[in-house]
Amino acid sequence: MKYRVFFIASIVLIIVIAPRLPWYGYLLCLLVPLSVLFFACINLSWNFFIPAHCKAETTEKVVALSFDDGPDLCTDDILDTLKQNDVPASFFCIGKHIAGNEKTLQRIKDEGHIIGNHSYSHAFWFDMWGPQKMMADMRLMNKGVMTVTGLTPALFRPPYGVINPALASAIKWEKYIPIGWNIRSFDTRIKDKQKLLSRITGQLKPGSIILLHDSMAITAAILPELIKQIKTKEYKIVRLDKMLNINAYV
Ligand SMILES: [Zn+2]
Repeated sequence: MKYRVFFIASIVLIIVIAPRLPWYGYLLCLLVPLSVLFFACINLSWNFFIPAHCKAETTEKVVALSFDDGPDLCTDDILDTLKQNDVPASFFCIGKHIAGNEKTLQRIKDEGHIIGNHSYSHAFWFDMWGPQKMMADMRLMNKGVMTVTGLTPALFRPPYGVINPALASAIKWEKYIPIGWNIRSFDTRIKDKQKLLSRITGQLKPGSIILLHDSMAITAAILPELIKQIKTKEYKIVRLDKMLNINAYV
């Protein structure tokens, strides 16, 4: 809907308004819609191309932890910490990381966490692909999870958090539930543990979805303290699917 309104507004801008402006009118009227499109692609929470769950609508003090890009070197350490603290989480896994990490993937399921689809390839050019190629990639990931665990993920988190019309179509056609976040930890960039911790805990709100990466050593290192601080602020860590009241599997 938003996309259609935007499309009509852009046409009006270029055909009706641009000719009435000075010589740079066309440039301006092209730059505005292109900028909107760019920011809509990198902000899943705008719900511009497709509605996505980026937080839960609740006043209850609950939050959900989500880990992207595994199963990887730090996943088992993270699972140990979650088990010691009796905390559930969701893992948006990359299909090509499953081979060699089958036991870890099975452990995610066995210990009560959920597995989501984060594409098979997590390819750099993923967002340049057509919907058919994206769908094939997403199916390959689900096939890998199915082979190891017997489960078929229903939740999908776009690689790099980028959305576009082709990916929105692939998600719709494959009937995935798109999942974003509203607290981006930047654990792939921040090197200072205290800075990372305060960045996350400073943004806590009821219904928050926290984005972390089980591929990062710093994330495994801060997790015990992060859980402790979240609990100190009287938030309960719940599983994403339960917080959003959706099914994690088909
Ligand atoms: Zn990723």
